[in-house]
Amino acid sequence: MSYPHSIALQQEIGPWKAWALHDGFMEVPVDEFIAPRTATQPEVQRALAATDEAGDTLRLPVLALLLQSPDELILIDAGCGRGRQSHPLAGKLVKSLRAAGFSPDAIDKVILTHAHLDHAGGLVDEEGRAVFTNATFYLHEAELAHWWEQIKPGENQDANAQALTEIWEAIRSNVISCEDWQEILPGIQLVPLPGHTPGHCGVRLSHEGHHLLFHLSDLALHQHVYLANPEWDFLLDLDHKEAIETRQETLDTLAENGMRVFATHFEFPGFGYVRKQNDTFVWTPDATAVAKHTPAEVDALRRQQD
Ligand SMILES: [Zn+2]
Repeated sequence: MSYPHSIALQQEIGPWKAWALHDGFMEVPVDEFIAPRTATQPEVQRALAATDEAGDTLRLPVLALLLQSPDELILIDAGCGRGRQSHPLAGKLVKSLRAAGFSPDAIDKVILTHAHLDHAGGLVDEEGRAVFTNATFYLHEAELAHWWEQIKPGENQDANAQALTEIWEAIRSNVISCEDWQEILPGIQLVPLPGHTPGHCGVRLSHEGHHLLFHLSDLALHQHVYLANPEWDFLLDLDHKEAIETRQETLDTLAENGMRVFATHFEFPGFGYVRKQNDTFVWTPDATAVAKHTPAEVDALRRQQD
């Protein structure tokens, strides 16, 4: 089976042009990753069957969001990359970026929602060199502290710590530590979503007093499983109780206010809406996210998902 090398899809969001960039896919063993502390495997398999994804392995898309303001080019997260710890089906972000018409050195700012390798791995290439050579990097102060805690310079490092060390070395001279709710640029604000990691953040786009988009990052790892079962954990939720609490509260808010959402690991292009259904939630993909393309283009995008 072949996978897409480059895929990008443009949206207009208030004053920004936005592209969903496809980095590819990561595959995770279901029994280890999906609800290991909160549900039984038959329950998990039943939930996956609802989207025809029952099986031992779950393939999660990895998406990033590119924004263009009149003055700047802003990338939110950088995918898995092609370096250490990468996933074989991922690492296509730069190709997707080029498909959108930009080179990596054109990126002015990179906002990291958190420092897991499927979000920060793409900051370096196979040789560990910085990919976005002219960018400044923004992330929450709690995430920076967590990053340093994990890399423990000088001590015996595991593969994850080695990868994080390499990325840190490549970007350290241009990193800005951010606080809760910090506005990184006018209308682009970090929203603390702790639990998945200590400094895990969403990003909210607002313009002229209206909230236009909520990038929820890893608040929910799958558009059906974690919306239908927000009380389930994900293996990599560092504090799974806090992650579940944050998820339930945030999904409630998003369903109430009807804000457009972007999610890293939902089906491409990752734009849609969270709706409340009884005591749980459902995902409604944003039909306009594909409507602007010709039927042939839409068809090509869909086929590249397979
Ligand atoms: Zn992730």
